[in-house]
Amino acid sequence: MIRTRFAPSPTGYMHIGNLRTALYEYLIAKSQNGRFILRIEDTDQKRYVEGATDIIYSTLKRVGMNWDEGPDIGGDFGPYVQSQRKNIYTEYAHKLVELGGAHYCFCSQTEADEQKDEEQNIKFQDPCKLIPLDEAKKRIAAGEPYVIRQTIRKKGTSVFKDVVYGEIEIDYDELDEGVLLKSDGMPTYNFANVVDDHLMEITHVVRGNEYISSTPKYNLIYEDFGWEPPVYVHVPQVMKDAQHKLSKRNGDASFQDLVAKGYLPEAILNYIALLGWNPGTEQEIFSLEELKQVFSMERLNKSPAIFDIAKLTWMNGCYIRALSPQDFHKLAIPYYEKAFTHPLNLEFLSTVLQPRVETLADIVTQTDFLEKLPDYDVSLFQNKKMKTDEAIAKASLEKALPVISAVEEWSNEALFVALKQLAETEGLKNGQVLYPVRIALSGKETTPGGATELAVILGKDETLNRIKQALAKLA
Ligand code: GLU
Repeated sequence: MIRTRFAPSPTGYMHIGNLRTALYEYLIAKSQNGRFILRIEDTDQKRYVEGATDIIYSTLKRVGMNWDEGPDIGGDFGPYVQSQRKNIYTEYAHKLVELGGAHYCFCSQTEADEQKDEEQNIKFQDPCKLIPLDEAKKRIAAGEPYVIRQTIRKKGTSVFKDVVYGEIEIDYDELDEGVLLKSDGMPTYNFANVVDDHLMEITHVVRGNEYISSTPKYNLIYEDFGWEPPVYVHVPQVMKDAQHKLSKRNGDASFQDLVAKGYLPEAILNYIALLGWNPGTEQEIFSLEELKQVFSMERLNKSPAIFDIAKLTWMNGCYIRALSPQDFHKLAIPYYEKAFTHPLNLEFLSTVLQPRVETLADIVTQTDFLEKLPDYDVSLFQNKKMKTDEAIAKASLEKALPVISAVEEWSNEALFVALKQLAETEGLKNGQVLYPVRIALSGKETTPGGATELAVILGKDETLNRIKQALAKLA
């Protein structure tokens, strides 16, 4: 059975790249009747952020990626939180020492040194591996602090296959003898991922391509234990542009940020599915259910995926238009609540906005004039195409006021018929009446909806009030 895992570190937000990895893991499992496992990688206690696991749970739930095993629901391979698996790592790390794949180290090489080495691409060759095991054990028994480091014994080239990148060759000489178990007994990622993936019977490991260069080290650990390595599926980074990675630390959007900006979770998920995968057809809109049907990991792409917010925005618009009017209205209400204090016909406003917004945040930007009429200039009444100017607007509005006031059934149709009739009677073009009314009601050149739609949204009193204000301006 296919078993994949999503193994996020609880950092407090869901990076778009992480969510995409989760999606590919989910799809690899679910397209083949497999199981999708959630494992929390919290061994780096310094990075731990309160409440971060809840964000992981709620994000996955919100996009419909339900897990089959995980910290909250358990499973046969738990615990699913790494900090609760400390004893397991300790046991296996010491076992690996006995097998010759690791050694005790008493060096003063600190984590900071390690990081510096890594940044400068310096390989750490541990002198402690020359200490005989008996002697090392005596020093430990005497209370000397130690870490367990990997021992790279092999020479030559490591070759392994990756589903996306094909055959990869890395010289064993390039691998450093990094820490597997820290002095506080916590494992590093480099050790925990192997132990957990093996014990949890993970068949496919999907992760960012930054892990490719370390994979031979993991393969050595599998080999020393006599374990079968998983199928590797390394995916390219999600990029902001050709040079820069998308990164929350640099202020790029996380899943939570995008939702707050009015993107629908379903649209985000659909968009990120295509960041590195394509169905081989022209189809671009996919529900999660559809993705399960058509996904195949062979179609994952190794070229860097550039996160194109314009494309996501377009896709989000498609999702908004596909919502039922009721669902759109429900999603719009929190935005209305923030934007308006006056009574408005919100149900009708929703029908006007749904075809016109691309994100839910557009609701606020497109309707700012409803709460308060902006202080506009009368020159706005000039419009060549509509054949209006201030004088025509004034005359039209003077005539429109009693006509609108007499409309009893306050509907778009009734208002439209009344104003059209007025234009006809006066020998004016429709636009010569409708355009001035629209400006009077909005104080803006572009509005979602036409004059009569705005009137329905504003209600009769406010409509008449705004026309009077326009007439006062034009007087
Ligand atoms: N905890 C790692 C991360 O957040 C997981 C990498 C992996 O999937 O193996 O990047």
